[in-house]
Amino acid sequence: MKILLANDDGYRAPGLRQLKDALAGVAPLTVVAPDRNRSGASNSLTLDMPLRVQRAEEDVWYVINGTPTDCVHLAITGLFDEDFDMVVSGVNDGANLGDDVLYSGTVAAAIEGRFLGLPTMAVSMVPGEGRVRHFETGAKVARILVDRLLSAPLHQSTILNVNVPDVPFEDIKGFEATRLGYRHRAEPVVKARDPRGRKIYWVGMAGPGQDAGPGTDFHAVANGHVSVTPLQVDLTRHGAIEGLRKWLMESA
Ligand code: MN
Repeated sequence: MKILLANDDGYRAPGLRQLKDALAGVAPLTVVAPDRNRSGASNSLTLDMPLRVQRAEEDVWYVINGTPTDCVHLAITGLFDEDFDMVVSGVNDGANLGDDVLYSGTVAAAIEGRFLGLPTMAVSMVPGEGRVRHFETGAKVARILVDRLLSAPLHQSTILNVNVPDVPFEDIKGFEATRLGYRHRAEPVVKARDPRGRKIYWVGMAGPGQDAGPGTDFHAVANGHVSVTPLQVDLTRHGAIEGLRKWLMESA
């Protein structure tokens, strides 16, 4: 049993350090992380420039000038002689609730590990006001779920998307199996000028939860629970195939 750790906040991120400390002793750990913050990278691969792997200060740390998906992709397709059994990604500095998962590099790293034969997991902190304070809570949650997976495996192609309220671990009210909710439309783009007077833009903040009722990830976290959502990669809207078939026939 070997566990690969990754993130999208970059190898210096405190959440990744906490994750590694919390999982020490469960299994041999290898960390492969981007050289800088690549939050929002989604499932992107770097195809237009070479990737370089640097070793950080410890034997187990590998740093890549690429995306979270590059990191896991390289790690499981030939960077190492050994195979991994599980990917744990995080602990992310920020929520990955609802439609966030489409943009998330944290979730993408877990998705990239889905061929490994064991469930993979993305763990994210959901801050209240201000910055995340309790990465150690997310790391401890990851440890509990990894221990549980090892003693009671889930279906192998499941990707667990875990969101953790930013509170001390003692204040967590429980674990809840959830579905993804979705957000209102994002805040408007932020317009500004650079020092030379040229227009620049910042992508605005994600919108608040819209579909956020009981059963959703938003609801679980808002009520002090750890939200655990099983994800799958099949984006096909199966229920629409039949109607589409008829529509195509009638259009022809
Ligand atoms: Mn991030």
